[in-house]
Amino acid sequence: MSTKDDSQIKHKKNVSKQLLLVLLFALACLCISLMINHANERKDSGLLYSDGIYEIPDLSEGADDAVYIGENYIFVPNIDYTDIDDSSFTYSDLHDVPYASGVSISPTDGWNDLGADAVWHNTDGAPDMRIIRKDGKEKTCGLYILSLYFEDTTDAYYINIPNANGLVRIYCNYDNLGFLWGRHDEWTPVVGFGSGLVPVLPDEDGYAQVVIAVSTNVKMGNPGLLAMPSVIDSGNSLRFSIIPALWYMVQLTLFAFILLGGFLVSRTFKNRLVFYQFIAIEIFALAYTMIDCNYLALDAYNKGMFKYMLFILLNAAVFAYIDSFFITKESKRKFPVLNIAPIVVLVAALIAVVVPLSYGQSLNTWFPVVPETLFTFATGILVTLNMLIFHYGEESSFFVCIVEVCHVFFCVNAITDTSGKYNIPTYTVFLVIANLTLEFYFTSKYVINTRKLEDTMNNMQILVQQKTARITEINEDLSETNRKLLENEEARKNVLSNVSHDLRTPITAIRGYAEILLRTRDNMSDQQKGNYLMNIIRRCEQMETIISDIVELTRLESNSNEFRFTDISICEMLDEICMMYEADLEGTGKHIELEIPEEDLLFVNADPKKLSRVFENLISNAVNYTYDEAAIKVRAWREGAGLPADRQTVNIEIEDNGIGIPENEIPMIFDRFYRAKNSGQNIKGTGIGLSIVKTILDRHNAKIEVRSTIGKGTVFHITMKAS
Ligand code: ADP
Repeated sequence: MSTKDDSQIKHKKNVSKQLLLVLLFALACLCISLMINHANERKDSGLLYSDGIYEIPDLSEGADDAVYIGENYIFVPNIDYTDIDDSSFTYSDLHDVPYASGVSISPTDGWNDLGADAVWHNTDGAPDMRIIRKDGKEKTCGLYILSLYFEDTTDAYYINIPNANGLVRIYCNYDNLGFLWGRHDEWTPVVGFGSGLVPVLPDEDGYAQVVIAVSTNVKMGNPGLLAMPSVIDSGNSLRFSIIPALWYMVQLTLFAFILLGGFLVSRTFKNRLVFYQFIAIEIFALAYTMIDCNYLALDAYNKGMFKYMLFILLNAAVFAYIDSFFITKESKRKFPVLNIAPIVVLVAALIAVVVPLSYGQSLNTWFPVVPETLFTFATGILVTLNMLIFHYGEESSFFVCIVEVCHVFFCVNAITDTSGKYNIPTYTVFLVIANLTLEFYFTSKYVINTRKLEDTMNNMQILVQQKTARITEINEDLSETNRKLLENEEARKNVLSNVSHDLRTPITAIRGYAEILLRTRDNMSDQQKGNYLMNIIRRCEQMETIISDIVELTRLESNSNEFRFTDISICEMLDEICMMYEADLEGTGKHIELEIPEEDLLFVNADPKKLSRVFENLISNAVNYTYDEAAIKVRAWREGAGLPADRQTVNIEIEDNGIGIPENEIPMIFDRFYRAKNSGQNIKGTGIGLSIVKTILDRHNAKIEVRSTIGKGTVFHITMKAS
């Protein structure tokens, strides 16, 4: 199977693994969502209710730490709260005006939905909620009235109002306890962060008539209480303020980390706009939470409007972020529709925000929910499609899908969330999960990239070291070559002077013989003339040898000299050469001994002319570099006779008892023109002979070794393959 198929299978496996992980993550989010919503649920405490009065038990002894009151309110519409502030006002005044009893709290519709058990009194049906206040402003206002009886009046109690649309005033036994979530001039700070926490003051007998007055601008579609108020004792009052405060701190801290880390990481991005888009998403989400949880006091109309605007902008920003981060120019070129997708989303967001702003009255039960839901799913589907089409199976697409799941869960929970038990909205959990995922993704990516960079740096360092070592080697080689060149140059000069000296000697002699012949030829006998002419011929031969040596080496080294290999007998060759030299040496005090096997001719595959040149050179050196009385031994034998033919060798040794070669100069004697220091001026030579020997033997794949002792003699040992 080809590697392409392999990688395709691997890719498919990765894709299915990623899809499975995304699905598992979505499932986990669903579980988290259900669990938090369940834990957050405010259950009506089922307090004892008789004669229109709730009996509040001693909370410090009770199992629960708060009692939630979701039903049996008396709701009075059309009462301007400024009337209640009037000291002449009494509750009995309310008996004559329209009111509803058995009212329950609606988390989405406020007083537009008073519950199935509500019964209207003093009116034929629900009256018009609009009133003209004493200051002439048109407002709507409603009172939620609740009678409480406290068993134990020694402890302090608080009433907690988690969420309402409108300005809330709380009265207890005619006392104005404070305002919640009013505009700046109406705002009275009360204990609590994100929810109203107001102390209840029962009378001596333990009775408390609590009136929660909610008034709003008429534009508001669903005013009133949006979450069950609860009664808590002093021991638990902190819980209602500290937990939401801590949770918001966690969100802000994460945001700070992301801001700082993102700022640092984004410095390596080509497109920093992505980072600002991301920060916009974070700010929209945090601002949404801040307004929704009443961390920022806004009147009901502005609260609804800002929440709605932030929600739509958040969705558009998520889309823009994913679009500019992941959709490449290449994919936009292929699918031009992608170019207009962000514009379409932006225009839709603007229309969705601007249109309701110009129709102030239109905020009602369905209005924010429908466009919010549409926007969430439209952007979610667009992002998911983008990822599936263009980044299918990539690591980034996995990460985007995870963030997208968080986005959808954030939005769905934000739309459906009501204030919970701990004043921690479920959707904020998904903002935290998304932020943690982002931090994990970018940090791990950063760490991986840094490690890769470190590895590359290390590899590069190693490479540089290797290259430097190589350069040093080359440098050493070069200086060695340079040294050799200089030596060669020196040797060349020497040889030139030697050659010219060597040539001058026979030339001078020839010239001498020729002059004698010219001057005295008439007085000479024929024999004398013949001797002179013979001398002239010998000198010419001597010159020819010198010149042919140089020419031969030059040819050998330039490889222009052809070798003709054939099977020859070493014994025969050595015998011939030795006989020639023996004749030459007769009467000189020097002699040659030849030791060769009798039965074995020692055949080798060689060029006979070249090989005899080798032996001649070595023997003539042995003759030259010995004292007057010299014994030159030439030996040849076979090694490995019992072994297969290709492992048998023929060995030749030429031994003399002459001047020897200094040990440190032995490696150099095969260099061109090299002459050992002890060879001196007396023994004439060019330093070429052994170079020729070495070059010829190399071409025969034969080895030559030298053993020598100064003043005692030298042995040249040649090893050749037998044939
Ligand atoms: P040449 O004999 O012309 O100087 P060679 O290349 O034949 O050049 O030899 C190189 C050198 O090796 C000689 O100059 C000599 O110093 C040394 N050498 C060669 N053969 C012998 C030997 N048998 N005994 C001592 N020295 C030798």
